[in-house]
Amino acid sequence: MDRGPILLVSACLVGQACRYDGRIRATVDAVLAGWVRRGRAVAICPECAGGLPVPRPPAEIQNGDGAGVWMGRSRVRTRDGRDVTAAFLRGGRMAARLIRRHGIRVGVFKNGSPSCGVTYIYDGTFAGRFRSGCGVAAAHLAAMDVQVFPEERVREAIRAAIRSTPTRLPQHEGKLTGSGKFDILGPRLQLMDFLREAVWPN
Ligand code: SF4
Repeated sequence: MDRGPILLVSACLVGQACRYDGRIRATVDAVLAGWVRRGRAVAICPECAGGLPVPRPPAEIQNGDGAGVWMGRSRVRTRDGRDVTAAFLRGGRMAARLIRRHGIRVGVFKNGSPSCGVTYIYDGTFAGRFRSGCGVAAAHLAAMDVQVFPEERVREAIRAAIRSTPTRLPQHEGKLTGSGKFDILGPRLQLMDFLREAVWPN
């Protein structure tokens, strides 16, 4: 049974010190961290993957959202006006590369971020206000038909990730073994494994 990663997660959600201010989030998602530990999820910080340092000046998307950035209509700039769009695009491509490498179909991303935001992002004015829209990496993955969930919907994302791997779901029938005996134990073990992952992700 293939036990590779089936979920992509924002690295700051699982305790990596990759935020713009260099701090670790006060609330690490224990369920997601458990998945990463067990090799069932892969973590990425798209901004670091795109070449930006920690710490770094905060940046926001101006004139739109992540989808607009990919279409060339919007830019990502720091508060002092430095254009960091290229690094954000690079980070989005790195996330896409991970998705393709592992055949992952589901992500859980940090909402509000100009890279990872799923349903809302900062509005580009550096006034602490949000607008609806997605970040640069999240928009790229959504365009690849990846289901991208915000951090508030981790459980839903995990269920979607498990459903996204139909070849790993339990088979309901036994099969003949090489010795000609009917093997009913294998499918039962797969079923137990599936249930354990679904209800007890850690
Ligand atoms: S929200 Fe995304 S880009 Fe920002 S620190 Fe977390 S992982 Fe990195």
